[in-house]
Amino acid sequence: MSIAENLDKIRNNIDTIKKEKGLDYDITLIAVSKTVDEEKVLEAYEHGQHDFGENKVQELTKKESSLNNLEDINFHMIGYLQSNKVKYLVNTAKLIHSLDRKSLIKEMEKRGKSEDFIFNCLIQVNLAKEESKSGIYLEDLEELLTLIEGSKYIRVKGLMMIAPFYEDAEDVRPLFRQMKELFDELKVRDFKNIEMKYLSMGMSHDYKVAVEEGSNMVRIGTDIFGKRVYV
Ligand SMILES: *Cc1c(COP(=O)(O)O)cnc(C)c1O
Repeated sequence: MSIAENLDKIRNNIDTIKKEKGLDYDITLIAVSKTVDEEKVLEAYEHGQHDFGENKVQELTKKESSLNNLEDINFHMIGYLQSNKVKYLVNTAKLIHSLDRKSLIKEMEKRGKSEDFIFNCLIQVNLAKEESKSGIYLEDLEELLTLIEGSKYIRVKGLMMIAPFYEDAEDVRPLFRQMKELFDELKVRDFKNIEMKYLSMGMSHDYKVAVEEGSNMVRIGTDIFGKRVYV
């Protein structure tokens, strides 16, 4: 199937779930374009896809600089972020999904000040405590929130999770549900610099379950661009 057909299929699936569940909010589809060449990104763009996700800073900035002439195209940083790469995300990343530790806050404050730039971020939560994955553990979240409340150059727009991989995506439903509960709990609190607008969870394998459980931002690569080829 073509990229356009794949996008149509995913949009239809999401619309169907929205109808079934009576969900009345927008769900943002992020096309994860890591390893995918610019021609294919363009193909998706021409089929109305404007949000793209990258997991490497270098790849993000490269694509952003060659495609930023396109109207309303957004690049999301969804992968692990090294502190020394934060500076490259100034004016290039629309949203950073992987804010997960104090050292990143420190670096964003420093770069934000020198470049007069506000970083829009999601806090990545490692709810399942998988050692192989980044993301903050739940018990460390409050401390991070407090630091962000005191920051000048960071605005948190919600939460992100990379769910563990289970053969049967149904098995991850309880975790999605728990994330939604956390999202809703934080939403009603009165924070400075922090709002709960986006809940970024769900990938090719499990996005339907994620949307059913309240995700409003899904990050899909394989189901749009096909299996990734790493060289
Ligand atoms: C690669 C990646 C995705 C997309 O994964 P697919 O299984 O190809 O849909 C989503 N989120 C993150 C953080 C990723 O690194």
